[in-house]
Amino acid sequence: MNKILIVEDEEAIADLEKDYLELSDFEVTIENKGDIGLQTALANEFDLIILDLMLPGMDGFEVCKHIREKKNVPILMVSAKKDDIDKIRGLGLGADDYITKPFSPSELVARVKAHLASYSRLVGAGHESNDVVEIRGLKIDKTARRVYVNDAEKSFTTKEFDLLTFLAENPNHVFTKEELFRKIWNMDSIGDIATVTVHIKKIREKIELDTANPQYIETIWGVGYRFKV
Ligand code: CA
Repeated sequence: MNKILIVEDEEAIADLEKDYLELSDFEVTIENKGDIGLQTALANEFDLIILDLMLPGMDGFEVCKHIREKKNVPILMVSAKKDDIDKIRGLGLGADDYITKPFSPSELVARVKAHLASYSRLVGAGHESNDVVEIRGLKIDKTARRVYVNDAEKSFTTKEFDLLTFLAENPNHVFTKEELFRKIWNMDSIGDIATVTVHIKKIREKIELDTANPQYIETIWGVGYRFKV
């Protein structure tokens, strides 16, 4: 299912967009503030982002610029003013399309579908197939950065994904929390290794049937963690 993020402060508009997109089988997340929308956009994998221009917290120009620095997800910018659209174009922020308010929800859905189709052609052109790690019902799609447990997709943050992928690609190897912290958080200094514990807990809640009796990531008391195969 394609995931869409709507960053829009007018709740009535956001809800209407969401309703129409859900009717077309999209999974929709709404954020009402620019800064929070940016965080959500960076911490999750979306197939497309619908970004309003005038937002509290951080305006759409800034949000678009910051997303572009990190991700190549298609961005559809929404504005009430034609002048703003010209400005977006002029700034070269990397938005993929622009739509002016008011627009009909069906027009929005049509634009979203068109973008997803052209984007998947583009991405698909460079890859024969996705790089996938699969272990007992757990599937990690490294290319799409997505995780499935018995075919149900689970939402992972960037670090959770990196940590799980690293462990799964190095099975039966016991890593200390310090090693994992250095590996995933890219820091040579002594960091807060409690971060690793917190992330392991979150990952287990997503992939384990019974977190008290983990089948994938095993705790080696006094040492660290090991991915079981
Ligand atoms: Ca607005």
